[in-house]
Amino acid sequence: MTDRYAVIGNPISHSKSPLIHKLFAEQTGQDMSYEAIEAPLDGFAATIQRLRDEGYKGCNVTVPFKFEAYALCDQLAPRARDAKAVNTLAFRDGKILGTNTDGAGLLADLDKNLEFKLMWKDALLLGAGGAAAGVVWPLFNAGLGLDIANRNIEKAQLLADEFKGAGTVYARRYEELTGKSYDLVINATSSGLSDELPPLPDGLFKPGALAYDMMYGRETPFMAYARKQGAAIVSDGLGMLVEQAADAFFLWRNVRPDTKPVLALLRK
Ligand code: NDP
Repeated sequence: MTDRYAVIGNPISHSKSPLIHKLFAEQTGQDMSYEAIEAPLDGFAATIQRLRDEGYKGCNVTVPFKFEAYALCDQLAPRARDAKAVNTLAFRDGKILGTNTDGAGLLADLDKNLEFKLMWKDALLLGAGGAAAGVVWPLFNAGLGLDIANRNIEKAQLLADEFKGAGTVYARRYEELTGKSYDLVINATSSGLSDELPPLPDGLFKPGALAYDMMYGRETPFMAYARKQGAAIVSDGLGMLVEQAADAFFLWRNVRPDTKPVLALLRK
């Protein structure tokens, strides 16, 4: 019987995940289906229960349900525990297992696809929502010096406080960024959705710096700003999307797909 998977979000019609997983399944010869399901904003838990009742094997979770998914799990992988947010669920032996593949996806894209080495570099993470929470520990563990900037400074401070005892991560107001410069600036805000740019100063990029917008599908104001400011490499988040999907696929199917041809196809 064909194993069934899905991605749950609201809205979800824009999602590229069904296409990505279809391509992975074809490439690796896996008998599985993968669809996009929109859950009502107050109906995430009920949607998960329905999928379990219908025999689905697992699902991905996206905006705005990653924190609810975290709360719903019977068992959490360490990286989901760190992030306090879950983007991948597996339904096994009557239990909900949760993990978070966003951080691994970002690191794989930076390392493998963009060939950007992270160790000893200085990074600025913009945003303190679900996407930022998913990547902050993996970035820290990769050996980066890390600042987090957010409009709501309390949220950035909460993220930074998690590193007390492990190292120093600074929460910054946007006004405090003047005069600072970084090797890597990651836009994990949703500002691109409304064609806005966070209030960033001039001179933010060191020579050779990489500017990364987690959004994908179009040139965002952040990407345009980074080009104008002289960032050496400017990337959208499509590679992260494909790499985090590959990690989820591996957890479900125990087969690691080759992401390069899938990413190339999506870029066309
Ligand atoms: P959340 O809603 O959880 O968080 C939104 C964040 O963006 C908050 O920090 C918010 O700041 C900030 N923000 C929103 N608008 C602006 C603005 N105009 N200026 C400055 N800051 C702003 O969203 P997520 O964290 O889940 O998602 C963020 C982005 O990352 C989305 O575009 C999403 O598509 C993308 N993403 C991409 C992935 C990929 O695989 N490529 C994976 C996951 C996410 P405040 O707290 O001050 O309101």
